[in-house]
Amino acid sequence: MVDVHEHHFPRVLDASDVDLLRLFTESYASWTRGRSFSLPSEAQGSKPVGLPRVPTTWDALAPYLTESGSNSFVRNLVRVVNELYGDGEGSITQANWERLDARVRQQHAKPHGWREVLDRARIGGIITDPYVDPMVDAHVEISPRHVSVMRINAFACGWNPEAKDHNGTSAHELLDRLKIYPRSFDYYLEALEQLVAGAAGRHQVALKIALAYDRYLDFDAPDEALARSAWGKPSPNAAEQKAFSDFVVDRFCRLAAEYDLPVQMHLGSAIIRGSHPLNTAGLIERHPRTRFLLMHLAYPWAREVLGMGLIYRNVWHDLCWAPLLSPTLFRQSLHEAIEVLPDESRMMFGGDNWHAEETYGAMSMARRILAEVLEDKIRDGYLAEDDARRLAPKILSDNAVSFFGLGQL
Ligand SMILES: [Zn+2]
Repeated sequence: MVDVHEHHFPRVLDASDVDLLRLFTESYASWTRGRSFSLPSEAQGSKPVGLPRVPTTWDALAPYLTESGSNSFVRNLVRVVNELYGDGEGSITQANWERLDARVRQQHAKPHGWREVLDRARIGGIITDPYVDPMVDAHVEISPRHVSVMRINAFACGWNPEAKDHNGTSAHELLDRLKIYPRSFDYYLEALEQLVAGAAGRHQVALKIALAYDRYLDFDAPDEALARSAWGKPSPNAAEQKAFSDFVVDRFCRLAAEYDLPVQMHLGSAIIRGSHPLNTAGLIERHPRTRFLLMHLAYPWAREVLGMGLIYRNVWHDLCWAPLLSPTLFRQSLHEAIEVLPDESRMMFGGDNWHAEETYGAMSMARRILAEVLEDKIRDGYLAEDDARRLAPKILSDNAVSFFGLGQL
């Protein structure tokens, strides 16, 4: 399989002290204990994944298993831990947690032990969004099976050197590292082009818009004068900030078409009052030559985002995160997506995780549910077996290879 979305980065993957509890605290299961990001109505700032860190004990594990044990993020991890490390019990209990914990620690104490987990999931290629360091060369720093996307959030918030995105990333610090020092708004716009032009040299195969965690996704047509007025101000007003962000996003989408890089876009959830997929319709219509990969089935607006895929021919779908959020919705949506989307190139899968174990779980679940849906469709007479055999490898790998040009790497 080719996995088109992860948050793999060296600090988490290569840690030699990963234990059972960390698989929960550094995963979406941690959302059952509290969101990792703030809403505009709350105090600002996101919490780094997995902190504070405490050793695995039954008391620390029990809230996940006995209070949030019905949640799908938790169910996925329980299944994976048992599949990879268990003796067939099917659950994590007070009687077996110490044995499972020891096996997790043993696996991660091996150099690159995580790679064996990905091998077991038969994941050959991975596109990661290493947002803690958006300029890292994943192919060199993580593994030969990784490439990455360039997350543009910080640049859309870069109106002054102190401004940061919700991950605490500063555009000006990133540019400093590349020895680019934009002293004016015009130089800043030139810097954006240098970033896109240099992406391939860093093994970055797409741009990524994750601004649903920073702002509402109503990307308006560029208003250059208002965007310019935000530049250099210690605290531009809300209208100036939005215009700056809109302008930068629009510029990146134009550059993406010019340099033939796809644009991944997080839709749904996050700052939920502003993350409806149709908020991005204007942006998608203004850039008909830009290839947008819309993510997460825009949960909870799966039908809306599939409807966009019916209408817009510059839209593709990364169904990542949807199987983890709700296997039931994922199964139903896969049935509908096969029927609705205009051709067989439009779907691909990602995992959307930090640790290899959660990736194993997400990708194996996606593959299993795809198989079940295709079997249903053969049984119902919607597809012939040959059709299903043609479609499955496209969704599991071939679409991603051609969409991201991975064959040229
Ligand atoms: Zn993600």
